[in-house]
Amino acid sequence: MNGPHVLPALNDRLLDLPPSATVAINDRSNDLIKAGKAVIKFGLGQSPFPVPDSVVKALQAAAAEKDYLPVQGLPALQDAVAEHHRRFFGISCDPEDVLVGPGSKELMFLLQLAYNGELVLPTPSWVSYEPQAKILGRAISRIPTTAQSRWLLTPDLLEEFCQRGEDRPRLLILNYPSNPSGTTYTRDELAAIAEVARKRRMLILSDEIYGKVHHTGEHQSLVPLLPEQTIFSSGLSKWCGAGGWRVGVFVFPPKLAWLRKAMAAVATETFTSTCAPVQFAAVTAFNRNPEVVDYLERSRVILKALGEYVHERLSATGAAVVAPAGGFYVFPDFEPLRDQLADRGIYTSAQLCRRLLEDTGVAMLPGSEFGREREELTARIAYVDFDGAAALDAVASAADSVDLDFINRYCPKIVLGMDKITDWLS
Ligand code: PLP
Repeated sequence: MNGPHVLPALNDRLLDLPPSATVAINDRSNDLIKAGKAVIKFGLGQSPFPVPDSVVKALQAAAAEKDYLPVQGLPALQDAVAEHHRRFFGISCDPEDVLVGPGSKELMFLLQLAYNGELVLPTPSWVSYEPQAKILGRAISRIPTTAQSRWLLTPDLLEEFCQRGEDRPRLLILNYPSNPSGTTYTRDELAAIAEVARKRRMLILSDEIYGKVHHTGEHQSLVPLLPEQTIFSSGLSKWCGAGGWRVGVFVFPPKLAWLRKAMAAVATETFTSTCAPVQFAAVTAFNRNPEVVDYLERSRVILKALGEYVHERLSATGAAVVAPAGGFYVFPDFEPLRDQLADRGIYTSAQLCRRLLEDTGVAMLPGSEFGREREELTARIAYVDFDGAAALDAVASAADSVDLDFINRYCPKIVLGMDKITDWLS
């Protein structure tokens, strides 16, 4: 018989769903590398640092753990996360408020499935929130932010947005320090947003996966300011270097137990439980652990110096850049260079990134992937293309200074990438 072996019947919602932009840029970069081209990978946002030793050892020790675990998570991990929550946020938290999943991304998908509300995203925002809502057929609203507010939501923008429609179930996702901008809120800014969200009875997912890599360790959380409406999200991927281990955690306010239980019920029918050895190891990461504290302090020193370096280099090209305060991203706006880019036939962020990759081998992601207008000339740079293990080893303590010599020696591709972008633009 001619024709396909299976009758084609793709779910309509997946018809124009491309693979995640971050994965796509990494595949494209790897293709170029295979073809013999030197590529500087500023596209994929993966932690450059190794997993701390004590956490690796805990994983080795748990390798024989083979049983399915409770769907909500390993009780010892729930305990450790609840204790971590009490320690950092000073609010009560029970182990049963914690839900563990195979990556926080999967938990976000379950949340959007279980909560029948409109997704509200201040943009720029991380690449996967919106596609998840599309897969699930949820309504999506974007609230565009500006460089003037450091690419962050303001209470006025939120209030103005809410006034445009009647109150209805809404899920607002706040991510800080932010992927893609690296910027973050002060406590007062969070308190002002909390006030509007409280009045509007909005559910908030507080994605704090980069909280521990705030460059000066001064991360502030919405959780203690709006405990009854905020779900906390984190995991080991960004601050513990363990993206490939796939473990994420949500912490719910007790009054949202109905939502947590609904998500857990779906989990029983889908992934059953999160990888057992990894959960045992995660206990060591969330518990009080001087090695992890030291690892984080040294990571921050490096990321802070790199954030400042990249900010300075990009600003010198004439681009408008807001200095990052955490994580490993920066979100330059090449609008001031629009005329000269237009002379080269570049009018959109996608064109900008494609041409930069082709001409120089520097991979970055277009602002349009983060919910910005396609004509805007923004892009995300992940300054992670360096040997994180060697760099960490070279920093003896948080008191060490990471200067230009250090960056030249341990992060040469960051320097080269900045040189290439600068040359290409001038
Ligand atoms: N949230 C943000 C802002 C991210 O950047 C990422 C990963 O890139 C995630 C969530 C998902 O992380 P994971 O599923 O590895 O926990």
